[in-house]
Amino acid sequence: MADSLAELTAVEQLRLLNAGQTTSVALTTACLDRIAATDQRVGAFLRTTPERALAQAADIDRRRAAGDAVGALGGVPVAVKDVLCDEGQLTTCASKMLADFRPPYDATVVERLKQADAVLVGRTNMDEFAMGGSTENSAFQKTRNPWDLERSPGGSSGGAAACVAAGQTALSIGTDTGGSIRQPAALCGVVGLKPTYGRVSRYGLVAFASSLDQVGPLGRTVSDVALLYDAIAGHDPHDTTSAKAAAEPTLPQVNEPLKGLRVGVVPEHFAAGLSESVRQAVERAIDSYRQAGAQIVEVALPHARHAVATYYVIAPCEASSNLARYDGVHYGRRTDPAAMHARLAAERKSAAEANDATAARQIDTALVRLYRQSRSEALGPEVQRRIMLGAYALSAGYYDAYYLKALKVRRLIRQDFDAAFEQVDVIAGPVTASPAFKLGELIDDPLAMYLVDLYTVSANLAGLPAISLPCGLSPDGLPIGLHLMAPPLKESRLLRAARMFEASRDPLPLPRLD
Ligand code: GLN
Repeated sequence: MADSLAELTAVEQLRLLNAGQTTSVALTTACLDRIAATDQRVGAFLRTTPERALAQAADIDRRRAAGDAVGALGGVPVAVKDVLCDEGQLTTCASKMLADFRPPYDATVVERLKQADAVLVGRTNMDEFAMGGSTENSAFQKTRNPWDLERSPGGSSGGAAACVAAGQTALSIGTDTGGSIRQPAALCGVVGLKPTYGRVSRYGLVAFASSLDQVGPLGRTVSDVALLYDAIAGHDPHDTTSAKAAAEPTLPQVNEPLKGLRVGVVPEHFAAGLSESVRQAVERAIDSYRQAGAQIVEVALPHARHAVATYYVIAPCEASSNLARYDGVHYGRRTDPAAMHARLAAERKSAAEANDATAARQIDTALVRLYRQSRSEALGPEVQRRIMLGAYALSAGYYDAYYLKALKVRRLIRQDFDAAFEQVDVIAGPVTASPAFKLGELIDDPLAMYLVDLYTVSANLAGLPAISLPCGLSPDGLPIGLHLMAPPLKESRLLRAARMFEASRDPLPLPRLD
């Protein structure tokens, strides 16, 4: 019984709660039990917060029983990626740098979840500072794909996708800078939505690349994703990039099929490099739109082939500037000062004894050494790589050649989408070129890992809403994702289009973990 409660969709959980057929305490207990039973193997959670979750659940049950108002998520457990500030609770970004960081305030998304009466059960694993596509860059643990424990769940929101896929919670929150909600959703066989840039507040989200970052929901169904999206979307005066337009609720319309839907297909998305299993599954999905009466229209995105290169200039540039604060003084773990001073003194002494003035001059000042050593010790290799790439691309003489040029290409990519969306309502294609790769397969080849983002980064560069939803299994039983993109602020259209496809097929079963 415990397991089956945890495995229900959020919409079903909510229905049982509202009908008085279960309680939030029972549901939360079921989720915590399921996590305890499966997370040894999956590793989705960095930590759970059972006492707080059960207290929250009991409070919601009390209010519901007393006939008081409860929020839209009324007692449903939700997992949150460890990158959003939660007052007084560890928020580590899976980095040693922030291993002890307890923020003094809530991110707006966390605050809205609390107001909506979501039960916050724990924090999910991720690539350090959300940089990566496999969750292997976490400083703390590996997360495994519930469909095949030898494989990566994708990343950077790998924990958020794996926990939903494993039936530990029905809902989770991820973030997406270049695909980090959609790619793990695709590889884990769940639904993940990256909203329009500015649609969900970034206040209290630890920044990676501020012009690209978005927070969004993951779930096993489109309706669940709509439910969670509705709870977190909307204007926030604390975020200057927040969209002003009201966020209309999407859940009430999500089951209404779109009449006369025009689905754009980009021929380049099906070029060499796409694996046969993904091609077939995505083509079948597009075919099912055709059968549902949609018109399939070829559209061109001529600058899309530059998207990965553009992203891997802009994102590291912004990262190098955002991560400057983690120097062990302003923020983050500081190196042991006594050991550092002792080493500096020894270096000075040996330079003096050797009477080597050049060597003496090259020794850091204490402050520079403090920064250097704190950053070297507490930031992982991928994060250091991004900082160096970004600092290089922003430095005098290279700024125009790299950063400025990337901004111009970004504009062209956005213009391609503007033109395409004059002809179509949504654009459909693959999320990733292949199903889940093996743990360890790409981690030593950064370029290969970056290329996994081929189909996802354009939506971030253009600021568009985009969704990944399951469209089949490969011959070896691995999930495949369908990618849909829509014009800015058209989340409702996007979710309805996604639901049309979802409704045309049987849902994926939960992967077997026993
Ligand atoms: N894989 C991409 C990167 O490493 C995307 C990460 C993200 O969306 N947070 O930058």
